[in-house]
Amino acid sequence: MSIMNSRVEYAAALEKAHKEFPLRQAYQNSPDSCVHDYGFVVFCDGGDWDIVRCQKCGSERICPCTFDDDYD
Ligand SMILES: [Zn+2]
Repeated sequence: MSIMNSRVEYAAALEKAHKEFPLRQAYQNSPDSCVHDYGFVVFCDGGDWDIVRCQKCGSERICPCTFDDDYD
């Protein structure tokens, strides 16, 4: 199971991410009217998926892991 196909895993990962990288009180944009910039990785499950956060509105989503540790 991974955060991509398990809601439970995703919820646990998100909780961990929010402990490590708390959301700000306020963001400059509302998620509805934001041109998202998901540049901030708040969680990496060590596999294929990351949770990334938009630093402008605080919304989060899962994206394919861009850190490739197969080729060190
Ligand atoms: Zn955004």
